[in-house]
Amino acid sequence: MDSRHPTRRTRRAFLQLCAATPATFVLAACAGQPAASPTPERAELAPPTNAPPTLASPMPTPPPPTPAAPAAPTQAAQAGALPPTPACGDDDEGTPAQTEGPYYTPNSPERTSLLEPGMAGTRLLVTGSVLTTDCRPVARALLDFWQADDTGVYDNVGYTLRGHQFADDQGRYTLETIVPGRYPGRTRHIHVKVQAPNQPILTTQLYFPNEPGNDTDRLFRPELLMEVQDAVDGKAARFTFVLQRVAEP
Ligand code: FE
Repeated sequence: MDSRHPTRRTRRAFLQLCAATPATFVLAACAGQPAASPTPERAELAPPTNAPPTLASPMPTPPPPTPAAPAAPTQAAQAGALPPTPACGDDDEGTPAQTEGPYYTPNSPERTSLLEPGMAGTRLLVTGSVLTTDCRPVARALLDFWQADDTGVYDNVGYTLRGHQFADDQGRYTLETIVPGRYPGRTRHIHVKVQAPNQPILTTQLYFPNEPGNDTDRLFRPELLMEVQDAVDGKAARFTFVLQRVAEP
């Protein structure tokens, strides 16, 4: 069945990373999460002993992507005046990695909308692309998002406000969610793991501009700011992920 369904193969491979990843990552990412933590900021701000994994992905080889035309180099500029991340083509710098924090839950459902009936909070539509440092779209890149709810609380039992998806053949993604609430020690943010096929996982966080908490959150990095605008029914944000590719054997 898997051979006929690259999405499932890719997802399974991603999930298999939990079993194939060094112990530090397994402990942080794959172990069951506590139902709640009274000191979330402390755990998330702790020195990142769970440093970003440097594993070689066992992900099966996906179907060859559509021959990639270089993405428009002005993509970031088109979305607004503030480039939210190191732009592709500038150099070999990619989107910075950040700590995973204590609230990642593996095996999230595949979905592009994290909205649920009755969910409180300001609607947020995040769109963007996954590109390589040489400006090529990463077809079928895996993106796994998780975030706090409107009151700053994570669902560590179920999968509320958690979900993974695959970018399209042009590396584009869309996420429907809400603006996450703040919690002690942390400014407003969204967690995400991004993985190109057969490439390492980038774990990072996305931030909101003009947040008072940005100045006091020592994890905050301006390179990870989304471009956020008011929309008819909430907010619309853009972010372009730039992934560094590692040499394949
Ligand atoms: Fe967090």
